[in-house]
Amino acid sequence: MKSSLVILYHREPYDEVVDENGVVHYRDKKSPNGIVPTLKSFFDNVSQGTWIAWKQVNAKQRSKFQERVNIEGSNYNVRRIPLSADQVKHFYHITSKEAFWPILHSFPYHFTYESSDWENFKTINKAFAEAACAEAADDALIWVHDYNLWLAPKYIRELKPDARIAFFHHTPFPSVDIFNILPWREAIVESLLCCDIVGFHIPRYSENFVNVARSLFEVDVVKKEAVPEHITECGTALAEPEVVTQLRYKDQLVNVDAFPVGTNPQHILNTLQKPETQQRVKEIKEELHGRTLAIAAGRVDYVKGNRELLECYGRLLERRSDLHGKISLVMTCVQPAAGMRVYRTAQQQIEHLAGKINGRFARLDWMPILLFTQPVPFTDLIAYYKAADICWTTPLRDGLNLVAKEYVIAHEGKDGALILSEFVGAAVEMPEAILTNPYSIDRMDEAVDRALTMSDEEKAERMTKMYDTVTKYDVKYWADRLFEIFQRIEPETVADKEPAAV
Ligand code: UDP
Repeated sequence: MKSSLVILYHREPYDEVVDENGVVHYRDKKSPNGIVPTLKSFFDNVSQGTWIAWKQVNAKQRSKFQERVNIEGSNYNVRRIPLSADQVKHFYHITSKEAFWPILHSFPYHFTYESSDWENFKTINKAFAEAACAEAADDALIWVHDYNLWLAPKYIRELKPDARIAFFHHTPFPSVDIFNILPWREAIVESLLCCDIVGFHIPRYSENFVNVARSLFEVDVVKKEAVPEHITECGTALAEPEVVTQLRYKDQLVNVDAFPVGTNPQHILNTLQKPETQQRVKEIKEELHGRTLAIAAGRVDYVKGNRELLECYGRLLERRSDLHGKISLVMTCVQPAAGMRVYRTAQQQIEHLAGKINGRFARLDWMPILLFTQPVPFTDLIAYYKAADICWTTPLRDGLNLVAKEYVIAHEGKDGALILSEFVGAAVEMPEAILTNPYSIDRMDEAVDRALTMSDEEKAERMTKMYDTVTKYDVKYWADRLFEIFQRIEPETVADKEPAAV
């Protein structure tokens, strides 16, 4: 049976379990955390679905590679694209991370062209598109995720002209001057313009995309609208007053959507209620001996602004000796997968700075920074959030930043202080945070001072507002809204409208 919904996403949605006889079973991942369960929940609306992901295999494994995996107890299959280690390296670790990632995050300085393998990128995108079309019914909805698969829509449209194609970007989308540095810009944008709907986290990113498209092709603006009700229209770095929501390119009507992904508040609240989490919160508080706790959770990545944050913390301890022994920073900086050479310097920098600060200020009874380079399990992280007086999340650039939302939920609108970079998507949803500019030493110093001196009443007032926002616009809201939009896509209605006057 052909699928009426096909999702293309680089991660596999199941766990491989080997039983005592050596037989591999594919079980649905049960964790309700992250975006994967949300995407899978879309299959509840169809009788048959397919998920397409890549799988690294060696030559020996390839000969008996099982392309299609049936997930026990579910109504969807997984179609796997076998890639060699070399293909993965060039596709994922080099072209994606050394060429696209720096451009998407507005770091042209880190952009490297020479090592990118565009032919390999095209081959893999084509393989995803062919697999999607082989699995999809003629009028299926094919939903492509993220920049690794930028070219898939074009190949899909060629093979299945009547398919409904949706695309969602999980990253920022940069301004036209930055995006157009990419030497493959026309191919990428032309592919995105084959979609019925192109989605982004926030209006600024979708506006950037529209401007890029208009700079490269003769694209008509069909419709403009106000930004979603909870999104800031003015006054902060990523604010936008209105958005283009429909474009026409040749015969294709392209809907442009901007709505931030939410979290799963109930899962966080349930985790918080568990006796083991409560116990962990109690232990953390005891170990703190009354010290103020700041939490910074994230990955090693130059876009995350870890260096700027540590330098700010170093300056704080330098100018405020009264805080010595009275404040602790817990920083989780998860190290990247092996082979990500672009992150090597970033990791060394973080370890060096954290060591320098601890070396300068530590006492036998006080270590200013506790640095984790291994991922902190989610339940533990929730306990740290709950115990933390301050959440310090100040990336130089970040598509959304779920950490900020998770912290707000863990405090249930009662207490805590959130220092948030203006350059993350979530900043336009949460103007009540202590917004700061991580490119500015003064703004960063002011923000941390503000978090340390803010009254409990003001903290509670701000956190209540943010809690209301993140619990209302949660991941379910995001999914239901998108599903409703997908239902309305009618490829046949293409191009009957006159362009709007702009
Ligand atoms: N996270 C975690 N353990 C850690 C650090 C982070 O489980 O030690 C989780 C965190 O709870 C969040 C995700 O990783 O859900 C990071 O998402 P975010 O949007 O903040 O950043 P991304 O890594 O996607 O750029």
